[in-house]
Amino acid sequence: MAEEEKRTDFKSGFVSLIGRPNAGKSTLLNLLLGEKIAIISPKPQTTRNRILGIKNLPAGQIVFLDTPGIHYSRNRFSQAMVKVALATFQEVDVVCFLIEADRPDNEENDLVLEDLKRVSKPVILVINKIDLVSKSRLLPIMERYSQLRAFEQIIPISALLGDGVDVLVAELFKILPQGPKFFPEDMITDLSERFLVAEFIREKVIQLTREEIPYSTAVEVEEFNERQEKNLIVIKAIIQVERDSQKRILIGEKGRMLKEIGRLAREEIEAFLGVRVFLELWVKVEKNWREDPQALRRLGYR
Ligand code: GDP
Ligand code: MG
Repeated sequence: MAEEEKRTDFKSGFVSLIGRPNAGKSTLLNLLLGEKIAIISPKPQTTRNRILGIKNLPAGQIVFLDTPGIHYSRNRFSQAMVKVALATFQEVDVVCFLIEADRPDNEENDLVLEDLKRVSKPVILVINKIDLVSKSRLLPIMERYSQLRAFEQIIPISALLGDGVDVLVAELFKILPQGPKFFPEDMITDLSERFLVAEFIREKVIQLTREEIPYSTAVEVEEFNERQEKNLIVIKAIIQVERDSQKRILIGEKGRMLKEIGRLAREEIEAFLGVRVFLELWVKVEKNWREDPQALRRLGYR
């Protein structure tokens, strides 16, 4: 009982970090979460996938979503990406839009602003990299941006040096609602990209097959490799079923079914990750995987 009373003013919620590549989203997330972030992103400048980072404080829990998969440039601004971006905004309580103090004006920022017109959630404008400019240059940026949209707050920070980040966290706490601890305290990120990719594939299996197959299927991502020089991610995944007959259905006549699953899953994964994907799918019969605790853990079902 006493425990619950203490919890009543606990705040929590989801905050999405958006902004053009290089704005400093990953740097900010690293700083917010502390050293352990190395687990999330060993190569910060090449992060391409949505990353969830959890900040635990005595007063509450803030769950940050770094969405670098959304590339705000005309040629890459596909419908699918807009859909992903907007879906993300609907999930969150607050959006933090990062711009750079040393280059506040560019087409990508205009596109983000355009997109934000359809967002009803509170948006905080974060002016990052203030260490690169003199104070006198900040005010005009703040004035101009405040005319473009009613921002909840405009907060200048340096994600590199940590300046202003406490102010940002304090402002977030003001906006966030009272809520539960969504994740355990020792957790700083959620499921891996691998798990999400596996779920996309499984979703296509479910959509394209019938009867017992959807329930007998598990997907395991065996390989997930970034080929940086080619801006490509190579993914190899195994679709597990319980019987030979199911395997035959999944592969289909002349491999058509598997090809279709692969095509649809790849499109979705590419939209989600924001890069080209080479997806290789295999079907494997593994009897009773559903009863095998080891298999379940491996597949991310615990
Ligand atoms: P992202 O693409 O938005 O995730 O941007 P990153 O976090 O990868 O940062 C891009 C580059 O900007 C990196 O070289 C960072 O070191 C640099 N950077 C990020 N924040 C700051 C800042 O506050 N000041 C300065 N000077 N550089 C920063
Ligand atoms: Mg990044």
